[in-house]
Amino acid sequence: MIMIKKVTKLKRGINHWLALGALLAPFAAAEQPVNIIYLVGDGMGAPYITAYRYFSHNEKPIPVDRTLFDNWLMGTAQTYPHDDTYVTDSAAAATSLAAGIKTYNGAIGVDVNKQPVETLLERAKRHGYTTAMVVTSSVTHATPASFAAHVNTRQDAEQIADQYLDQKIDGKFKVDLLMGGGSKYFERKDRNLIKEFKKGGYTYANSYKKMEQLRKLPALGLFADDGLPHALGSTEPLRLSKMVSKSLQLLKGEKPFFMLIEASQIDWCGHANDIACAMGEMADLHSTLTHIKTFVEQHPNTVFVMTADHSTGGLSIGANNEYLWRTPMIHRVKKTAEPIAKEMIAAKANWEQRWTENTGVTLLDSERAELNKLVEAGQKDYPAVRVKLEQTLLKAISRATATGWTTYGHTGEDVLVFATGKHTELFKGNLNNIDIANQLFTLLPQ
Ligand SMILES: [Zn+2]
Repeated sequence: MIMIKKVTKLKRGINHWLALGALLAPFAAAEQPVNIIYLVGDGMGAPYITAYRYFSHNEKPIPVDRTLFDNWLMGTAQTYPHDDTYVTDSAAAATSLAAGIKTYNGAIGVDVNKQPVETLLERAKRHGYTTAMVVTSSVTHATPASFAAHVNTRQDAEQIADQYLDQKIDGKFKVDLLMGGGSKYFERKDRNLIKEFKKGGYTYANSYKKMEQLRKLPALGLFADDGLPHALGSTEPLRLSKMVSKSLQLLKGEKPFFMLIEASQIDWCGHANDIACAMGEMADLHSTLTHIKTFVEQHPNTVFVMTADHSTGGLSIGANNEYLWRTPMIHRVKKTAEPIAKEMIAAKANWEQRWTENTGVTLLDSERAELNKLVEAGQKDYPAVRVKLEQTLLKAISRATATGWTTYGHTGEDVLVFATGKHTELFKGNLNNIDIANQLFTLLPQ
C-alpha cells in the first residue's frame, strides 16, 4: 500500500490560494456529520445547461419552465490546470475537484510532483463513512479514478482497477459501492478482480436486473465492457438515473456517506459535436437530479454539490447568423452518429432514406453530394471514411438545428456550480475548482 500524503491546511496556505483559503468556512465539521453527494457533469459547460432547458421546453407556450439546474445554481468555478494552457483535461480537473489541489493534465490523484494526495472519498472512508461511486463511463475513467486511485497517467485503467482493490484504508476497501462500466479492466488474463472483490465480501451485478436485486453493501455493478452505451438510442436511456436511485436506496441505511456521481458522457457527445447525443445525456442527468431532490428532502442532513470539470466542444445555442435554435429537430434525431453512419453504409444506394428516418433532417444539395461520396467510398473501406462520415452527418444536424461548435476538444470558460440541501452557502460566488473540494473537506473530520 502506498502512503497518501495528507495535504494540511498549513501546506495549502503556503501557496497563492491563501487569500481564498481564508474565505473557506473553517469549523463546519464540528456539527453532526453530513452525507455528501458530489456530482460532476463531464464537459457540462454552461451552454449545456441552457440548451437542456430549451430542449425540454421544446416550443411549449412561454414562459420557459425552470429546470433543477436553474433552481440549484450557486455560482461559477474556474477550471484552469497547473500549467500555462488555461484549458484543462478531465484528469487534472477531477483531481482538483477530488483533492483540492491544482495539478497537471493527465494526473490521477497525484500532485505536480507525482505524489499521491488524499481525496475527499479517502478522507471520508478514513473516518468510517460509507463510500460510493456511480458513473456512466468505465469506473476506471479519469473522474472516478481521481477520487480513489493515484497514478501518473490517466491511460492506466488496469492499474486503477487494481488500486480500487489493493489500496485499503485502515484495512478496509476504499469504495463500498462501485457502479458503471469497465468490466474488461476487472476480468483479465492476469487477474480477475471481480472474483477478488467477491472474495472480499462484495455482491456483484452485471445487469440492471441484478442491480435491482441488490440488498446490501458492499457491491460492485459493471454493466458494460467499457463505457455504458450512450443514452440516445439506448434501451436504457435513464441508466444513470436508475443506478443512482438504487444506490441511494442502498446508502439510506448507512450514515454518513460520501457519494461521487459522474454524468461522464456529456463530454463524449461534446467531443463528437453531437447535440442530440448531449441532450440525451442531459435528460438522464436531470432525471437523476429528481431522485436526488427527493432524497435530500427526506434526508435533510445531506449536501448535494454539482459542477463540471470543463466545457467541451464550444457549444453555442444558435449558429450561422441564425437567431433561433430548432429544438423539435433535435428531438427528431433518434441515434448517435456511429449507428446512423453504419446504417447508411449498409443501406448503400438507399442511404438517404435511412438518414431521413433517423434524423428527419432535409439535406442541402452540397451535404447530399458529400455524404453520397462518403457512403460510396465506405462500401469499399468503411474504417477509412468512418470519422469523416460521422463528422459530416453531424455537421448537417448542427446546421439544420442552428447548433454551433468551435472545437472537437475542451474549452476553458468558467463552469457553473450547483448545490442543494445543507451548507449550500459554501458554494456561492466565483470559486476556483479546488475551492469546491476544500469546502467539502471542511464538512469532514480532519
Ligand atoms: Zn473530454
